[in-house]
Amino acid sequence: MSKKNNSFNNNKITRRQALKYMGLGAAVIPAGMYLSGCVNKSNEDNRPKPDLDNIPTDKMTYTTLSRTGDRISLLGFGTMRYPTIEKETPQGITNVIDQEKAEKLVDYAMAHGINYYDTAWMYHQGESEIVTGKLLKKYPRNSFYIATKLPGSVQSREDAIATYHRQMEKLQMDYFDYYLLHSLYSDEMYQRIYHDWGMLDYLLNEKKEGRIRNLGWSFHGDKALFDRVVNEPVQWDFVQIQMNYIDWKYGNVPAEYMYEELTKRNIPAVIMEPLLGSRMAKVSDAVMDMMRSRRPNDTPAQWAFRFVGSYPNVLTVLSGMTEMEHLQENIKTYSPIEPISEDDKVMLAEATEIIRTYKIVPCTDCKYCVPCPYGVDIPGVFLYYNKATYEDNVPDTGGERDAGFGRKSRNFLVGYEQTIPELERANHCINCGECEPTCPQRIRIPDEMLRIDNLVKQLKTV
Ligand code: SF4
Ligand code: SF4
Repeated sequence: MSKKNNSFNNNKITRRQALKYMGLGAAVIPAGMYLSGCVNKSNEDNRPKPDLDNIPTDKMTYTTLSRTGDRISLLGFGTMRYPTIEKETPQGITNVIDQEKAEKLVDYAMAHGINYYDTAWMYHQGESEIVTGKLLKKYPRNSFYIATKLPGSVQSREDAIATYHRQMEKLQMDYFDYYLLHSLYSDEMYQRIYHDWGMLDYLLNEKKEGRIRNLGWSFHGDKALFDRVVNEPVQWDFVQIQMNYIDWKYGNVPAEYMYEELTKRNIPAVIMEPLLGSRMAKVSDAVMDMMRSRRPNDTPAQWAFRFVGSYPNVLTVLSGMTEMEHLQENIKTYSPIEPISEDDKVMLAEATEIIRTYKIVPCTDCKYCVPCPYGVDIPGVFLYYNKATYEDNVPDTGGERDAGFGRKSRNFLVGYEQTIPELERANHCINCGECEPTCPQRIRIPDEMLRIDNLVKQLKTV
């Protein structure tokens, strides 16, 4: 069981994409602005800015995994959203990890007490494990914990075993601190890989041999699958769940349910999506006022991180931090954490009800669905649509066709055409369905593409 050893008092979207989605070229935008909620410009200037002065190097909050004694930073470094740059390859221009910037982030994280690094086979099209291994190579192996995951895309037992060994080569490590069955989303997939192909026994044996120190799983399935896996006669050392103050009650499987079930069994929770991608980094004016009335200087991201980090059975909270400012803000929030109060939780539950009224597509920009074989920029289209929704630029096509309708319509269409290249727009979706099973948020991607494309067509005829 995980236990905070200090009672809390111990002392994708890249920037380039963000600019693209904002249609801002070389302009400078503050961290997190691209997913703002119904924010008008005048209020924007008055919003709390993170205080990034004097980031402490020695005040990080740590938790302890009692079985092994691992002392883990409450903030974990997710390597799914490293900064990227464009590179010319024989296949054309592609985005690769910007290693120079990634190294600065990892070095800063290490210097400020972050010791948990979470990667996966599929992150950055396979590049994340290689870069993470390279960047951590200069540090003593016992100064950090590495977590990686067996992908659900393996084609056979032999492929799964080869993938597992290849991961050690990519990371340049001969054992994994934390190894996960990645993104369990269907009973069929779990049964096939881990029982029919015997991979669960294989991984348990690897743990016995010491090449896996802790075995767990990350989860995006339904309640029946969660119940099945959590009740396996296996010692799960940790489980990675999606948890934030919105998903607490409203996740596909409510985070509250998963957290309580894990706690009952003394299984620590690793938290992913504390900010739902970065959707919760900005909130509407109404929600901001509620937050400000309790803590005038805290940002929405700080509220979100304090919420998840305050639960005692949380081992670490993962954040994919593309920009140095994100990393600094999150370090500050947990150095040390100020636990959330019961009154704060009531306020966040009320805020959740407001946030749920936004008609957005619940895309977290994880990019599991890319590439679309027909070239659709799936997360790009959704991020643009959400941004337009937050900015009140999605006209109600069933409503009154007044001046407001015309203005919103123009704003939406101009922004769409400036942001999404012609060949990557929703109208290129042919409903092949290939992307849909990969989406951990269970978005009905082709239906949403059709809906957005219909909106575009309707607005063009006005
Ligand atoms: S359903 Fe549409 S968006 Fe998804 S992979 Fe097929 S064409 Fe691309
Ligand atoms: S549509 Fe789903 S899979 Fe694709 S980026 Fe969004 S959340 Fe991830």
